[in-house]
Amino acid sequence: MSEIRGVLRRGRGRHRRRKRVPLKTAAAAAVLVAGSAFAVNAVDDRPECETQARPGGAHDDHRHGTAMGTCGTRPTAAHDHRPEGHGAPEGAGHPPAGGRQAPALTPEPAAGYDRERCGNTSGRVLLSLDDWAYSDPERATRIGAQLQAQGVRAAFFLINKYASQYPQITATLRQQGHWVGSHTWSHRQLTRLTDQELQDELRNGLPGNFLRPPYGDAGPRETEVAASIGQRVCNWTIDTYDWQQSDGAFRDAEAIRTTVREATAEEKNNGVILGHLFSNFPDALSGIINDLRDQGYQMCRNTGPTTDQVPYPLQC
Ligand SMILES: [Zn+2]
Repeated sequence: MSEIRGVLRRGRGRHRRRKRVPLKTAAAAAVLVAGSAFAVNAVDDRPECETQARPGGAHDDHRHGTAMGTCGTRPTAAHDHRPEGHGAPEGAGHPPAGGRQAPALTPEPAAGYDRERCGNTSGRVLLSLDDWAYSDPERATRIGAQLQAQGVRAAFFLINKYASQYPQITATLRQQGHWVGSHTWSHRQLTRLTDQELQDELRNGLPGNFLRPPYGDAGPRETEVAASIGQRVCNWTIDTYDWQQSDGAFRDAEAIRTTVREATAEEKNNGVILGHLFSNFPDALSGIINDLRDQGYQMCRNTGPTTDQVPYPLQC
């Protein structure tokens, strides 16, 4: 009933001057005024979205929250055409894509944030596995189970266009105690994209606050846009070069293991190791973990299921 009253009030406000004949009954008033109000709303709906999409509509976005739906994606795109340096503060005022994330939980730790360490201040080593196991998607969760059995938490950065087809893989990895972050929608090099393409690559796909840009390539623009939608960039300190091929074959597991073993202490303390789901890196994991433990390092601990929000500082 209060809804009808609201409509009635709004209808009266909008149409008071047009009504010359007093209405006889409350029911008639409700029907007529509500009817005209709905008609006005139906007409106004699209223009309201577009009005809010323009700069200055941010307050409306907040008030309507996730209910803004399709209107919600437009404001930031419009802002993207503004000069660089204005993107982050303005973008931060808008709800993230689909209202899936809570930016308030994930302020970009601008000062002192070490993206190569992903905010890892634990002293331990974080394993990360990127991309997708193209010929065998379930390989990801088998690796996840193996690491879980060893008490190790890893970070998986999945290409979203594949991960979105297998939502159970993300769910299982988190249930296994791993972090699952975004590796963008389709693995394009972000620094080469237009502002709109950049938005699309970052916003489509997995909700979450952890982003690994393809090729680790994120400049000020990409970092700001990511921050504006609540994502922080996470790169690595040790590249295993598992992605390199010679004569059509990826580096073998033993070479990958050796690369990690011979990395410096600085790269290992609070370090992050880069490997891929499609390479021989998964086969090198047990050896890598054994070597690191033999060298006196500790792996990030698996303390149970995770969510799409990775804490900062990253205590693992
Ligand atoms: Zn990648």
